[in-house]
Amino acid sequence: GGAAASPAVNETVGPYIILKTLGSGAFSHVKLAVHARDGVRVAIKMLEKTPPKSHHAAAAGGASAHAHLATQARNEASIISSLNHPNIVRLLTTFETDRYSCLVLEYVPNSDLYDLITNHPASLTPEFVRRIFRELVSAVAYLHAQNIAHCDLKIENILVDSDTGVKVTDFGLAQRFVPDGPLLTTRCGSEEYAAPELIQALPYDGRKIDVWALGIVLFTLLTNEMPFTHRPGERPRRMFHRIARGDYAFPLGGGGGGGGGGGHIGGGRQPAGAMAKDLVRRMLTTNPAKRITAEEILRHPYLTGEGSVLEPEP
Ligand code: ADP
Ligand code: MG
Repeated sequence: GGAAASPAVNETVGPYIILKTLGSGAFSHVKLAVHARDGVRVAIKMLEKTPPKSHHAAAAGGASAHAHLATQARNEASIISSLNHPNIVRLLTTFETDRYSCLVLEYVPNSDLYDLITNHPASLTPEFVRRIFRELVSAVAYLHAQNIAHCDLKIENILVDSDTGVKVTDFGLAQRFVPDGPLLTTRCGSEEYAAPELIQALPYDGRKIDVWALGIVLFTLLTNEMPFTHRPGERPRRMFHRIARGDYAFPLGGGGGGGGGGGHIGGGRQPAGAMAKDLVRRMLTTNPAKRITAEEILRHPYLTGEGSVLEPEP
């Protein structure tokens, strides 16, 4: 059957009362909710349970604090709860209803970066962009040091609170890896954020595809445009060819608009500085072996503050 309505405002889910919808995807609903007794506000990610599988599949997760959850939710819960970083969203608890596995997350007021870029582009001053990008990379460097790759970094999955800063969320596709071990093969993420090795369906280092996606995020924060996007009327493979060749261009200064033909999102912006462009180039390096690492990004002059963020073109 079709998608049944998700729980409505004022409905009770577990010990919580739903206040509003924060996000909705194909298989998940994220709700702002309040605990009926203590009044604490939380974000509840409700993952639709797939039709019950065999007992073998259900038992495959082994010992886990979230053993009652369906497999997908259990993976996400297990990964988030193993993390402890100021710029990564916290998992408070989990519970389950007839239809949903529920992850109870700390509520991050304000919005995600997609919303910020679309609706409040003027707030993205060069200093603010540098600050949120630094926090984002510190979260990702931490994640990689824990041998976890996010595999779905994009502006919708990066929450920003004016007080506490960046909170990376959505670990639904995150994967544990073995350093110097086998490469990953699971297809993941959005096309516009996919590194060349993902486009070419090659085994990949999860850290390297995260860094490519960070390059897409920084480009978008700097320009309000996507470096790689499907242009109207062209065949989908055209964009994949541009990604494989690393063929992107910064829009020509001022006014946003036409430029390199990127996907325009918000209002026009001032041109990005030379340091920022250099860092984007190092992240959007097509050869993953030559691509910068998250740790190295933290030492790049754009983030260490050695260069002015408004530094003119050389
Ligand atoms: P999906 O797997 O369906 O993409 P996400 O975990 O990305 O689900 O959540 C969907 C959207 O809900 C996010 O893009 C964000 O706008 C909002 N959201 C998610 N978690 C929170 C949170 N903890 N606080 C506030 N908003 C959230
Ligand atoms: Mg998401």
